[in-house]
Amino acid sequence: MGKHPDLTEMKAADVLSPGLPNDIAARYGTPDLALEIKALAKTYAGKKKQEPKEALKGIDLNIRRGSIFGLLGPNGAGKSTMINILAGLVVKTSGSARIWGFDIDVNPRRARRSIGVVPQELNLDAFFTPRETLDIQAGLYGVPKNERRVMDVLEAVGLADKADAYARSLSGGMRRRLLVAKALIHQPPVVILDEPTAGVDVDLRRTLWAHMRALNERGVTVVLTTHYLEEAEEMCDEIAIIDQGRLVACGETKSLVQKLDEKTLRVTMIDPVESLPEPLRQRGAVLVGPHHLEIHYRPSQALVGDLLDVISKSGLKIRDLATIEADLEELFLRLTGSDSTEDMQSRNPEASARNDGP
Ligand code: ADP
Ligand code: MG
Repeated sequence: MGKHPDLTEMKAADVLSPGLPNDIAARYGTPDLALEIKALAKTYAGKKKQEPKEALKGIDLNIRRGSIFGLLGPNGAGKSTMINILAGLVVKTSGSARIWGFDIDVNPRRARRSIGVVPQELNLDAFFTPRETLDIQAGLYGVPKNERRVMDVLEAVGLADKADAYARSLSGGMRRRLLVAKALIHQPPVVILDEPTAGVDVDLRRTLWAHMRALNERGVTVVLTTHYLEEAEEMCDEIAIIDQGRLVACGETKSLVQKLDEKTLRVTMIDPVESLPEPLRQRGAVLVGPHHLEIHYRPSQALVGDLLDVISKSGLKIRDLATIEADLEELFLRLTGSDSTEDMQSRNPEASARNDGP
């Protein structure tokens, strides 16, 4: 586990959620849906001369109990607004939301107790120590003093030795871990992480995911927002894509990617090609360089073998080939029509991860 040797996956899960599924069932029951969001809308009132901002334009979204769910979308899509409404930090304009079966209007306390949110901003009170922060948080959620496991939770996130340090003296990575601890201190059955890995080093990213998987195996529903599509593809059973306050796609990650049903065959030729032979052109091949051609094809229809036949019958000699699969990024671009490569630095999260020090 590199930098955080004290945060082993199983230990963390044991400490944070001892016998969680049963515990949760006893305390909160087991609804089919962890989150049930209907026609949720939010318009921020414009301050001074600003126009009002319609951040959510009626979102319907169901998240099954027990899933790891990814919420994707470019900057400004409305992800944080939605999460903050669930967390009770932003007041919705209309629509409804249930958390673990509890309506946020009808049963606000129970709804809030059923959820732990790791916010996007590192909004810690600089004058409290991690121990105090967790103790206060547990108190807010009505966890009795003798049931508070503050030191256990601190140990689980690798902050035991910082229990009495001021939050302002913690590094960015440590603050992030303290926020995770804060979200988990009352053992909620639903955990939401808002961009938890933005600007987080690779070790912490891995540890966090291992940790969330372990919690999920014990029955916790995990929802995360991320810019890193690869991460969502790897982590999430289901995903929803929102753009400009609307839901543009939702479903099983695999089936969404399958729906694309498009692959690209990229062929490298030994000799340069000046113009494409007609049979290849007819099949949609394009020259992308003197030695390279690409053909888009549907795996469910075309056979790569046939394509290769056509290529060699045209007299071209193949040096190498590769198939490129459609991925979530492509799906996203198609659905939103935006080419927001800055927002969606999807290809390689590790390369773009900032190191936030010890
Ligand atoms: P995301 O988390 O997907 O990046 P946000 O929910 O933060 O999106 O923002 C959605 C839209 O609402 C953006 O256009 C943003 O500028 C606007 N917005 C967010 N918070 C406020 C606020 N407190 N007041 C006014 N507008 C806001
Ligand atoms: Mg956000």
